[in-house]
Amino acid sequence: MHTNIPFSGNVKVGILGGGQLGKMIIDEVMRYDIHVGVLDPSSNPPAAAYAHECVKGDFRNYDDVIAFAKDYDVLTIEIEDVNTEALRKLQSEGKKIFPQPEVVDIFRDKCVQKDFYNKNNIATSAYQNHDGKPESPRGFPFVWKAATGGYDGKGVSVIKSRADYDQLPDVPCVIEQLVDIDREIGVVVHRNVSGKVVAFPPVEMEFHPEANLVELVFMPANISQALMDQSVELACSVARATGIVGTLAVELFMTKSGELLVNECAPRVHNSGHLSIEACFTSQFEQHMRAILDLPLGDTTAILPAAMGNVLGDAGSSGAVAYTGAEDMLQASGLYLHLYGKTETRPYRKMGHITCINKDVEVARETVRNFRKSFKIHAK
Ligand code: ADP
Repeated sequence: MHTNIPFSGNVKVGILGGGQLGKMIIDEVMRYDIHVGVLDPSSNPPAAAYAHECVKGDFRNYDDVIAFAKDYDVLTIEIEDVNTEALRKLQSEGKKIFPQPEVVDIFRDKCVQKDFYNKNNIATSAYQNHDGKPESPRGFPFVWKAATGGYDGKGVSVIKSRADYDQLPDVPCVIEQLVDIDREIGVVVHRNVSGKVVAFPPVEMEFHPEANLVELVFMPANISQALMDQSVELACSVARATGIVGTLAVELFMTKSGELLVNECAPRVHNSGHLSIEACFTSQFEQHMRAILDLPLGDTTAILPAAMGNVLGDAGSSGAVAYTGAEDMLQASGLYLHLYGKTETRPYRKMGHITCINKDVEVARETVRNFRKSFKIHAK
């Protein structure tokens, strides 16, 4: 037990990454007066306005991570593409790193991730890992995924023919069975230092067909109570298998035959949990901080149904950002606009999000859909 609660500067938390996720973590824990600094390569990232310190440096660079860590008692991440070698070194010297670097490494590589599910008997689609592009792939169609990173923004493709296949780069990859997806479900789970695991209610996700970004998230998911319970159980079992401390965002496929498969997980706060800020007693961001500081995990019960939509930069414009059409939105009841403070817009760049809470989830969905159309983000 804590003899001294980690508030009011007693514990300093450093976040690798100063994007919108870091910004929302800090926003949610400011009322506890928790001291938070961020490390980010850009001079004025979204979290800079809220952080106690914003250090310019690259979280992918070994020396930058080691130097940043000196001033902090606990380090965490808002992006998984960080230098885990530096984090392992710091951890071996006794620094608290949550999520642990060995857990982050499972989820940074899709091949390692798939093998992890397989070894731990966690249901996932059939797959084969390859060190490079195989000469003769098995029968079409299938899903091809680059093991790491996105190559020219195309890290995942459905391959229907030899012609599609020939377009792919020669990089380490996973070849997966094409799943007959009925719905995509998200469950955000937290595990604290003491090993307590608490999940948020499952959400359902709808995707943008071209940008491959989450377009609309709503809660509760439109599935039976039995499937809700199974989704939560499956997500918690992944968190327990990893032993993670912090947030694990679990994405599930529900197949047309009603089977649940783990698609992928992120060891950090996630887009599928943004609506928890307004919709649940505790948000995913506050819960993350509770988990890594070994505080009791908060109640994740939903106060009202909710829907969340990302607001993306317009497809045809790049440059200094301007916004049009916010007035009507600001008059709507239960509607919350979040702007991340990015000064430059680009096609499909995540510039903010809109959450609507309403006792009727259909009304919340419709409201978010309408305002996503009328609210425009474009270059000046
Ligand atoms: P990313 O890392 O880009 O988020 P995902 O693995 O989540 O990649 O895949 C992106 C989307 O592609 C999924 O949300 C889903 O719609 C589709 N997808 C991924 N894997 C499969 C699969 N095995 N079968 C069918 N669709 C898939």
